[in-house]
Formats: sequence, structure tokens, C-alpha cells
Amino acid sequence: MKLLSGKTAVITGATRGIGKGIAEKFAENGANIVFTYLSSEEKAKALEDHLKSYGVEAFAIRSDASDFEQAQELIKVALDKLNGRIDVLVNNAGITKDNLLMRMSEEDYDRVMEVNLKSIFNMTKAVQRTMLKQRQGSIVNISSVVGVKGNAGQANYAASKAGAIGFSKSIALELGSRNIRCNVIAPGFIETEMTEKLNADVVSQWRESIPLKRGGTPEDVANVTLFLASDLSTYVTGQVVNVCGGMLT
Ligand code: NAD
Repeated sequence: MKLLSGKTAVITGATRGIGKGIAEKFAENGANIVFTYLSSEEKAKALEDHLKSYGVEAFAIRSDASDFEQAQELIKVALDKLNGRIDVLVNNAGITKDNLLMRMSEEDYDRVMEVNLKSIFNMTKAVQRTMLKQRQGSIVNISSVVGVKGNAGQANYAASKAGAIGFSKSIALELGSRNIRCNVIAPGFIETEMTEKLNADVVSQWRESIPLKRGGTPEDVANVTLFLASDLSTYVTGQVVNVCGGMLT
């Protein structure tokens, strides 16, 4: 059964890692997709071709999610490509700029807030009118267990991810009466390019401390995103789903 058959989706930051996993899962399930990338046109084109191999329409668009005007323009283009409908928005784009508060620069604090949190405002504002007209929509925001629990050395990242949760719950309350849902996924330790930067000893300690004894995969996150995007979750909104192998209980 293709859970997103006939639906359209916009996914930010999808050329690698979790975003790519979500784009592949959505294509496999029949969604027509617009996804964004920031720098690698080559990777974006390769993903576009790969998604099309599932028999869906796929469009890569270069867009910086942290820029308000670019987000509005992106949705205009996406509406054109997707025949005027956006059923699902996945705000996945995110960065880390870790440091202890003592050494964290104002610039690194601001950039993480802009990319991880302001982007969600930008994109949600941009799709709101369309989803209101449709009287239907599912927004999935990718936060982190760090946004729920905090983490030493990640005050900027944790603040942005906690902000994403507050924002999402508020949107769920504001737009629920129009059948627009907004949920959050809080991944734990998912092994992607973002976590490749970590020291090998730290990584093996993380794996050991996780009840399921492994790091997660982009597909683990993509499966839950698929559920929240699809009609299997039509009575679920304003929720945070931890996808963390039991790390946070
Ligand atoms: P990643 O670094 O592999 O991918 C992030 C993607 O976002 C990249 O494709 C990048 O180009 C894109 N991006 C960055 N800034 C952007 C911008 N301004 N506009 C548009 N795109 C932009 O990271 P990932 O591990 O795949 O993480 C994806 C999401 O999941 C992020 O929001 C991250 O914070 C979150 N997350 C990851 C983990 C993990 O363990 N990997 C855990 C919890 C949450």
C-alpha cells in the first residue's frame, strides 16, 4: 500500500542524511516531491533522478530555509510544480555549531537559531495560506531529543530545537480547526554526515548507552515521518515523537 499516493510534499535540506531518507521514503510511497538543497547541485540532481525512478515527480530547488523571502519564493515555485497543492511540509534543514557557552560566539548562536528555528517559521508562514484553502495539511518538524533534554556544549542547538517544539504545539492549536496538523519528531543519535564529525570513542559510548544498542538510521526517522505525513495519523497533532532507541524515556 502506498501511503502518500496522490499527495504532494515539500522537504527542506534533503540531499543527504535524514532529509534524503525522508525523500526516498515519500517517493517509495507515491508522493510528488519538491525538495531543497543549499550547495551541491550535483547531489540534488542525482537525488531528483533517483526519486523519479519510483515513478513520482521530483524537483530539486536551491533555497536557504533561513531566509524569509527565499522560503516564500520556494513555495510559489513548489505550488507551480505540484499543481497548486501542498499536502505535507517537512522542515528538516538543520545545522550544529557546538561549543561550551564560554566559547560560543554570538554569530554561531544566531546562525543556529536562524537555520533550525526561524526556517520553520519561514516555511510554515509560506505554506499556511495553501493549507488553509485546502482545509488539509500535515507539517512535520524535525527537532531533537536535545531540545527536550538539553545537552552541554549545545545550548544554541538545544534552544533552537526546544523552540521548534513550542512553535509546533502552538501551530497545532491555531490550525487544528482547519484540519492542519503539526507534529514534531525528536531523533536521538542518528548516524549521518552530521554525526560523522564526532569522535569514534564518543560514538561507541553513545551506542552503548542506548537501550536498543545502536545508532538510528535515516530510515528509522523516515518511517515515523511517513506515519505523521500520511492519513494513518489523521487524529494526531501537537505531539512530539522521540525516535531515539529508548535513549529518552
Ligand atoms: P545533515 O547535516 O546530514 O543534513 C542537514 C541538511 O540540511 C543538509 O542537506 C544541509 O544542506 C541542509 N541545510 C543546512 N542548512 C540549510 C539551510 N539554511 N537551508 C536549507 N537546507 C539547509 O544532518 P542530518 O543528521 O540529516 O539532520 C537532519 C535534521 O535532523 C536536522 O534538523 C538535525 O538537527 C536533526 N537531527 C539530527 C540528528 C542526528 O543524530 N543526525 C539528531 C537529532 C536531530
